[in-house]
Amino acid sequence: MRLVIMGPPGAGKGTQSAMIAQRFSIPHVSTGDIFRKNLKEGTPLGMKAKEYMSKGLLVPDETVVAIVKDRLDEKDCKKGFLLDGFPRTVAQAVALDGVLTDMDMSIDHVLNIDVPKEVLIERAVGRRVCKACGATYHVMYNSPSREGLCDSCGGALIQREDDREETVVKRIEVYLEQTKPLIDYYSEKGLLISMDGGQGIKEVGDQIVKALEKRQ
Ligand code: ADP
Ligand code: ADP
Ligand code: ZN
Repeated sequence: MRLVIMGPPGAGKGTQSAMIAQRFSIPHVSTGDIFRKNLKEGTPLGMKAKEYMSKGLLVPDETVVAIVKDRLDEKDCKKGFLLDGFPRTVAQAVALDGVLTDMDMSIDHVLNIDVPKEVLIERAVGRRVCKACGATYHVMYNSPSREGLCDSCGGALIQREDDREETVVKRIEVYLEQTKPLIDYYSEKGLLISMDGGQGIKEVGDQIVKALEKRQ
């Protein structure tokens, strides 16, 4: 199964992607995670991405498309994949179609998680991530069993620099301008499955699994 998951910042894409990847045994390819890993390792790609990420802006299309193309060329993506946070512009979506056509592949479904703006800010600002393994928590809605520590690896939980309220507001603006048009793009191709993301983590997950199993 080849999937894209989209939705505004803080909608729950990463959280649901972890569940979907496990349930359907496909790799979870998150461009945000790839950039953060490069940033942590101090690579040139990480340094370049940071300039944009810290301001809540999008990394240039050519850069993102090149890293996704390389990632899709890896062996584990032969059995399918879940793209999280990519594409984020119509130009990226068109480039992705080209890359997949060259590989004799296409996207099966695009999951769109719909969440009202006030809820997004609360989710993103309350997000905490494990410094060691990247697992995601929320101070109120998905808190770890020991405060400030990751349940799976014991690592310290931190707030992402771009999850400060001012930057979240900017990221939502960027989403509305540059990413939301993709809803029409994929809807016209008959690929879009929209979810009500305003419910709890488990309820949203159940909606996704039901929708995907029906179409498999
Ligand atoms: P979010 O929680 O906002 O969905 P992500 O972890 O997906 O966050 O992305 C964090 C940041 O990484 C974005 O604000 C952007 O700067 C950069 N980024 C991630 N994916 C892309 C992409 N497909 N195109 C451009 N920039 C991206
Ligand atoms: P995205 O990848 O779309 O930016 P995340 O999956 O990281 O979003 O979720 C953002 C924050 O909201 C995290 O702290 C996560 O634990 C929390 N969260 C995710 N889905 C829900 C939900 N359905 N209800 C409440 N909180 C949620
Ligand atoms: Zn951890």
